[in-house]
Amino acid sequence: MRRLPIFLLLDVSESMVGESLRQMQTGLDALITTLRQDPYALETVHLSVIGFAGRARTLTPLVDLAAFNAPKLPIGSGTSLGAALEHLMASLDREVQSGSASQKGDWRPIVFLVTDGRPTDDVEASLARWKAKYESRASLVAIGVGTSVPLETLGRLTENVFHLKGRTEKDFKTFISWISQSISSQTRSIGLGKEGAVVPFRPMDGIVQLGKDTSVSAYPRADEDLVIVPGRCGRTRLPYLIRYEKPQTVDDFLQAAWNGDSWNLVGAYPLDMSYFEWSEAPRGPGFQVNSGRLRGTPPCPHCKGSDAFVGCGCGQISCMNEGDETVTCPTCGSTGEVRMVEGGFSVGRALG
Ligand SMILES: [Zn+2]
Ligand SMILES: [Zn+2]
Repeated sequence: MRRLPIFLLLDVSESMVGESLRQMQTGLDALITTLRQDPYALETVHLSVIGFAGRARTLTPLVDLAAFNAPKLPIGSGTSLGAALEHLMASLDREVQSGSASQKGDWRPIVFLVTDGRPTDDVEASLARWKAKYESRASLVAIGVGTSVPLETLGRLTENVFHLKGRTEKDFKTFISWISQSISSQTRSIGLGKEGAVVPFRPMDGIVQLGKDTSVSAYPRADEDLVIVPGRCGRTRLPYLIRYEKPQTVDDFLQAAWNGDSWNLVGAYPLDMSYFEWSEAPRGPGFQVNSGRLRGTPPCPHCKGSDAFVGCGCGQISCMNEGDETVTCPTCGSTGEVRMVEGGFSVGRALG
């Protein structure tokens, strides 16, 4: 039986923390459940999951649907799309069987690239390599999520660019059923013996398809929708992320009047040490934000200390509990007295 290799190339950068990551995780399970009910898919589909943040790694090597177990998605700092493409190309070389005189190889692989942020590494060389050597060997479908995604970069990578604007549970459900329908229509076409035919990927409600010539000006930057602040628990030394978003309101007028002055607390999310393995090494001073522009302070998601937003002179934040008089920064090791700072202080924010 010839295999249809499907690669999911998933962005697991810091901006995915919270609901988006949970939806993606749930979505993976839903995708497998749906595909397993499709007899054509069950026969041919082999699935691999690759995650990328600051670094790219295979989470699940190519395996058939019956044996597939959805991996736990990590989180890391950075959106290294260039590294992700390199990892993908190496995986295609290693895992996809090409045909020979005596044996037919795998069906043409399909790659679903899902990303929600601007690349933080240099993508040009990898993009050129993809166009020259791999574009003809695999179908790449790029899906941008949210409003900060560089659709113009995706548009240079493939003609199959889709945009999922919302990040609600409903948006992700639509998205997952769209992926499973896209896969099913490919497997059906294979089942009917249509050699080599790739069924065109079609848009659906909530998922917009973009033209080939997506220009930069048509999609203005909107990176300021959210602010993610990385922190580290002083007691457990484990990392966490605090998510702030542009005020959400049902009133479009108020939404439009938002002047970018402040962001509201959404939540604080505990991470494990794998965060550092998936993160890009910091290159020089990163983005900063003044704490006075961030509304709301969460408790520490690890030790439950009352305040997870204690700044250090090194630009990193950690946690403290009520009554603590001094705090030792888990990042730089310096100890300081706890005091309130008028007008806020500068803290490092995530790369995106
Ligand atoms: Zn803590
Ligand atoms: Zn420090």
